[in-house]
Amino acid sequence: MKLTFLGAAGEVTGSCYLIEAQGLRVLVDCGMFQGGRDADARNYAPFSFAPESLDLVLLTHAHIDHSGLLPRLVAQGFRGRIHTTAATADLLQVMLADSAHIQQKEMEWRNKAGARGAGRPPLYTLAEVQRTLRQLSPVDYDNEIAPHPGLRCRFRDAGHIIGSAIIELWVNDGGATHKLVFSGDLGQPSRPLVRDPTPIDSADVLVVESTYGNRLHKNLDDTLAELEYAVTDTLVRKKGNVIIPAFAVGRTQEILYLLVDLYRQGRMPEMDIYVDSPMALKATDITARHWGLLDKDAAAMLRWMQKRSGKPRIHFVEDAVESAGLQRIKRGAVIISASGMCNAGRIKQHLRHNLGRRDSTVIIAGFQAAGTLGRRLADGAKSVRLFGIPVPVKADIYTIGGLSAHADQAALLGWLQHFKRQPRRSFIVHGERETATVFAAAIRERLGWTGIDIPALHSAIIL
Ligand SMILES: [Zn+2]
Repeated sequence: MKLTFLGAAGEVTGSCYLIEAQGLRVLVDCGMFQGGRDADARNYAPFSFAPESLDLVLLTHAHIDHSGLLPRLVAQGFRGRIHTTAATADLLQVMLADSAHIQQKEMEWRNKAGARGAGRPPLYTLAEVQRTLRQLSPVDYDNEIAPHPGLRCRFRDAGHIIGSAIIELWVNDGGATHKLVFSGDLGQPSRPLVRDPTPIDSADVLVVESTYGNRLHKNLDDTLAELEYAVTDTLVRKKGNVIIPAFAVGRTQEILYLLVDLYRQGRMPEMDIYVDSPMALKATDITARHWGLLDKDAAAMLRWMQKRSGKPRIHFVEDAVESAGLQRIKRGAVIISASGMCNAGRIKQHLRHNLGRRDSTVIIAGFQAAGTLGRRLADGAKSVRLFGIPVPVKADIYTIGGLSAHADQAALLGWLQHFKRQPRRSFIVHGERETATVFAAAIRERLGWTGIDIPALHSAIIL
């Protein structure tokens, strides 16, 4: 059996792993690269394998850095099934369509501005997204499936966003069976909305994420106090706006939940919350539709939000003209918009109109990959370029790590501790190289494990 690391190796985006065994070729995730000057070129590069030669794809969750190149895979000849949870399949309907829309807009902008890559077709089209969606095959959590004679697998709740999964695979390789576990993205335990990651107790080969493998999040109480302060200071004292870049799926719903919950507790001022994303309303509806996957408090809160007619006022903005109208609001607004790393989408307009204002505030609530606009803001840039124009950064920038959807080092180690025996091989992925190195050292030291590697991009191992 051969395992090749085609993305998220020494970085956090572009998750993609190829498994080859006797008579079987499976891809786990097919994510887009985000951030960095060459992300675009990498997304446009040909796959290093023949898409039509794959038997099937297994998808951990809907985030674009895990799913975003699926339409390209289909456009280039992949005809097999894409197995994923039902909630992820629902989310992909909106997320991939939105991604195609962003690709189209970026292309139009490139052509108009004569920017790098002008004249190139979009990465994929809405028609290619539609074809991709037809190849989705929803599975339930915890049920073993056998999508191929050489493969059994099981999706377990990863507690990261709704529908997110850890995938256990049993690969038959000429008589020998290897158990592989892909952690996908793991959530932080005891956070609102989604459940805690499912413990897994055995693997021959483990592929584990390490986004925050080098640090600890603040606890939920301190995180909420930070959020309360940032919003109150901006709306009441500075009388400006709060801008929160967030993935439309997952992060947006959780932040909305926390803001409303703080408001219910009397810890937030009067405010208008604008969820400005063409797909956030759909994603919020999908979240509400999958009640059963939410934790108890969140389910109760969602019911309260849907019934309530009062405050805080929550506006879902789908229409582009309405979105542009938000630029005229100078105070009292909390605007949650995508993309989460500020590299595309409507958030760029809100940053353009608020970054230069001392009375406004930007709250960085999720992980920012190297090379993204969000990372430059989190790193304290004094000026950034938006739409080719320099914009001074005068707004306050808060980074609230505790709002992240990713487990911190303690939570990752806690999840690993459930393994009864150390896996034969463990691969640390989905983390920047220094972070992965710190995390690997922590595993060796704290759990006494051996056989841990940080795979290089395009490296392969034979088992
Ligand atoms: Zn994710």
